[in-house]
Amino acid sequence: MANLGIPANTIAVLQKYNFNFQKKYGQNFLIDTHVLDKIVAAAEITAQDCVLEIGPGIGTMTQYLAESAREVVAVEIDKALIPILEDTLSAYKNVTILNDDILKVDINRIVREQNGGRPIKVVANLPYYITTPIIMGLFENHVPLESITVMVQKEVADRMQVGPGTKDYGALSLAVQYYARPEIVANVPPNCFMPRPTVGSAVVRLTRYEKPPVETADERFLFALIRASFNQRRKTLVNGLLNAGIPGVAKEDITAALAKMGLPLTVRGEALTLEQFARLGSLLRPSGVENTSG
Ligand code: SAM
Repeated sequence: MANLGIPANTIAVLQKYNFNFQKKYGQNFLIDTHVLDKIVAAAEITAQDCVLEIGPGIGTMTQYLAESAREVVAVEIDKALIPILEDTLSAYKNVTILNDDILKVDINRIVREQNGGRPIKVVANLPYYITTPIIMGLFENHVPLESITVMVQKEVADRMQVGPGTKDYGALSLAVQYYARPEIVANVPPNCFMPRPTVGSAVVRLTRYEKPPVETADERFLFALIRASFNQRRKTLVNGLLNAGIPGVAKEDITAALAKMGLPLTVRGEALTLEQFARLGSLLRPSGVENTSG
């Protein structure tokens, strides 16, 4: 099958199958060979790798991945794309296509079945409407993985990278930076896609840490605190946490913890570093609560 990174070849496939783009699935297909090369290079795919591709579309990036990897598993929600994928990828014996919703499928099971439970690499031009739940799901469910190399909305890529004191800093920044080292690999303009998205895009590589950069006895409690702190950005940290009603966390516990950390009662969540959230978590974690991490 011809290289689908070349726009004329993508158009030919779309016409052959009379394909209608589904806006609800965030379908913007890549039509730029340079961008495709860059993604595959940034993901550092080798002949030993098993790659999980989320949302293969008509198989454009899948072709590139199949050329470099030992095994590619591609999970696509749109039933209409499955016969197209079977056609465009028919030359590759190392591709498994699954018609499923990535937010519902058991990815840990896929890794067990396809790669004996060893770490995979995730590569995708993500559907933008579910970027955060996909990335958080991979991390929080402890899917064995080395790295995630994904195309996301530019603004979301920025959010993953920034630290305290910037407007983009939030729960996503902290969660990503707890699990991985983020790096923007390329900025990608709308004309590299068909149809063109209304926003700019960026390729970001998240390299998973073997061990998170901060210690916590209870990962879930830490992330409950972080989420609560950013739920109401304009509120102080104390009010944000109180309004979230985290069981076992009373106002006097929060004020005592902030005093111990040398932080004013008026501090907002957006001013705290990951290290400070981890410290707050260890000070606030109600004693006797079972460690639910892991
Ligand atoms: N990889 C292709 C490319 O680069 O040309 C297509 C990328 S397009 C931005 C996103 C793809 O994800 C679409 O094919 C869409 O149907 C698929 N998709 C959307 N939601 C999904 C979900 N919940 N699970 C799996 N695939 C999904």
